[in-house]
Amino acid sequence: MKTIGLLGGMSWESTAIYYRELNKQVQARLGGLHSAKIILHSVDFHEIELMMRSGDWAGIGDYLASAAQGLEKAGAELLLLCTNTIHKVAHQIEAAISIPFLHIADATAHEIKRNGLDTIGLLGTSFTMEESFLIDRFQSQGLSVLLPGPEQREIVHRVIFEELCLGKINPDSRQAYKSIVASMAAEGAQGVILGCTEIGNLITQEDSPVPLFDTTTIHVHMAINIALGD
Ligand code: GLU
Repeated sequence: MKTIGLLGGMSWESTAIYYRELNKQVQARLGGLHSAKIILHSVDFHEIELMMRSGDWAGIGDYLASAAQGLEKAGAELLLLCTNTIHKVAHQIEAAISIPFLHIADATAHEIKRNGLDTIGLLGTSFTMEESFLIDRFQSQGLSVLLPGPEQREIVHRVIFEELCLGKINPDSRQAYKSIVASMAAEGAQGVILGCTEIGNLITQEDSPVPLFDTTTIHVHMAINIALGD
């Protein structure tokens, strides 16, 4: 079994899901007392968020590139960045290491296509929904991406930073997300990407008329397949 390096803490609420699910899936696959081999570098999200707010993405990239090098030196054989938004600097991280980097959009696109879908809604932070770093990656793999309207995007973004990254689960926000998912489905989305690693704590498949693609779960699942040599 390969050792998985995690760049996490963005936020720790979702990194906790990665840790739990990686271990659960290894245990389910190998049985007994088996668990995942993981090395975690967990950041102080406050520091990263300040850099996001000031637009210092190169600074975030430098910081995480050096954290990734540390994980490689410590023995990681595969690297996961446990957030969609920070994939904006994935190129800087990938360039700094020689172990494989499992891009969250590639794992997700693969799963969507495996399900035979090609038109897909996207929920995430405003960076994820309004910039090209993930959308281009989905489109280059043959997917058409639909987005919520501007006011809905603002709600989705606000709930992520003011609630989900702080571990707050608010029933009104769940209702708002449900209606946003339903409106994307009505506009032709055959499925919806939960393109933020915390959204799975708020809504699940039963809240949606179309299949949901939770990037956290998909990322974990593909990492386990690679780590176990499938
Ligand atoms: N975890 C989130 C994501 O997947 C948002 C927090 C962040 O900016 O990293 O995009």
